[in-house]
Amino acid sequence: MKHLTPTHLTELRSQLQARERQLATEIDAALARRQEQSLAGREVDQGVLDLETALGFAEVLRDQAELDAVHGALGRIDRGTYGRCLGCGTHVPLERLRAQPDAAFCHVCQSRAEVHAGPGLSAP
Ligand SMILES: [Zn+2]
Repeated sequence: MKHLTPTHLTELRSQLQARERQLATEIDAALARRQEQSLAGREVDQGVLDLETALGFAEVLRDQAELDAVHGALGRIDRGTYGRCLGCGTHVPLERLRAQPDAAFCHVCQSRAEVHAGPGLSAP
């Protein structure tokens, strides 16, 4: 049974491309804001400015990480490996891909990765 039809791939690819454009716009806007802040920086209390800069920077990093994931997913569509879990090779369900088109893992591998990434790791 074919997991993803060409129609599904076209649908998911256009979702990914829309997300790509949105993220690129957000990153540009955030970087432009940072530049304005540093130009106006002398007028602002330094502590507040640092906090805002740090928050803006975290936002850019998050958007950048998501953009990388979106690029990765578009690359997998091109290579024909899209929709397979990078952890175990199983098919990632279509509903999961629709909700999160850049999902690279099935929910089992994803939650395993999240447990491993978290603090207080213990042996199984
Ligand atoms: Zn998996």
